[in-house]
Amino acid sequence: MATLLDNKDKEERPRHPEKQGREDTPLLRKPPWIRVKAPTSAGYLETRELVRSAKLVTVCEEAGCPNIGECWTKKHATLMIMGDTCTRACSFCNVRTGMPAALDADEPRRVGETVAAMGLGHVVITSVDRDDLADGGAEHFAAVVRAIRSAAPKATIEILTPDFLRKGDAANIVIDARPDVFNHNLETVPRLYLSIRPGSRYYHSLRLLERVKERDPSQFTKSGLMVGLGESKEEVMQVMDDMRSAGVDFLTIGQYLQPTRKHAPVDRFVTPEEFATLETIAKAKGFLLVSASPLTRSSYHADEDFAKLRAAREDKLAGR
Ligand code: SF4
Repeated sequence: MATLLDNKDKEERPRHPEKQGREDTPLLRKPPWIRVKAPTSAGYLETRELVRSAKLVTVCEEAGCPNIGECWTKKHATLMIMGDTCTRACSFCNVRTGMPAALDADEPRRVGETVAAMGLGHVVITSVDRDDLADGGAEHFAAVVRAIRSAAPKATIEILTPDFLRKGDAANIVIDARPDVFNHNLETVPRLYLSIRPGSRYYHSLRLLERVKERDPSQFTKSGLMVGLGESKEEVMQVMDDMRSAGVDFLTIGQYLQPTRKHAPVDRFVTPEEFATLETIAKAKGFLLVSASPLTRSSYHADEDFAKLRAAREDKLAGR
């Protein structure tokens, strides 16, 4: 009975109640390099069935990611744990906002078994923000990492975490679960935080990435930026420098796409040539790996990029 009521409540409630009073923002017409085909392949449908039958949530669907056809055809999905409702209200994000349900203690087991069933070599796990929990969900995140290690010991694990703002040392619990890649996205330049990531703090997020490296230098650290929100090239270059100072290994940069008219507007579409320039600049600043293109997302091609990341570290250590 509780579930029925919860579902009814969800249907009637807007996806982003905090944004309902906002003026509609204009939608810019997408340039040809952004358009993607609707997903229809057999591989896509198979992945969808696996995700549905295990009752898992993916950020691919919740965020309306444009790459879902390509990724799911290759059985690459990013699982989103701790529910489908986020306690923050970022103005770029399409994930449902509000008060989330209690944690599902069985979720780590189901995630581990799904990763094993999909035969994934590399898995990406992300979550909603859980400011309602005393540890921000750190222990649950760590339990998921452990469950994957146990069910699919050969799979490498990449996590894309919340910032654990005002949660003391909770992030250490996640770091100590020893994922292979620890990703936390800075998302945008510090000047735009109040309008784009109002519940977050730029220097706290940066410091989280630095803390991962200090505590376990063997973990790769990764962070991502969206462009097209009104940032300048100089501001993006400053963020690159900040990330390098925090020891970030892998930088992803992609075009911001506006999920609805109530979300932050796209300021402009950055051209593929400008992305190529940003990639060249970032490489010169010393990142082990950089991925910058209009459709780059933090988990896009994550499996292939993990292999490149490892190879780049080996080359660096060997002085090649
Ligand atoms: S890029 Fe990431 S979020 Fe988008 S479909 Fe691929 S795996 Fe999912």
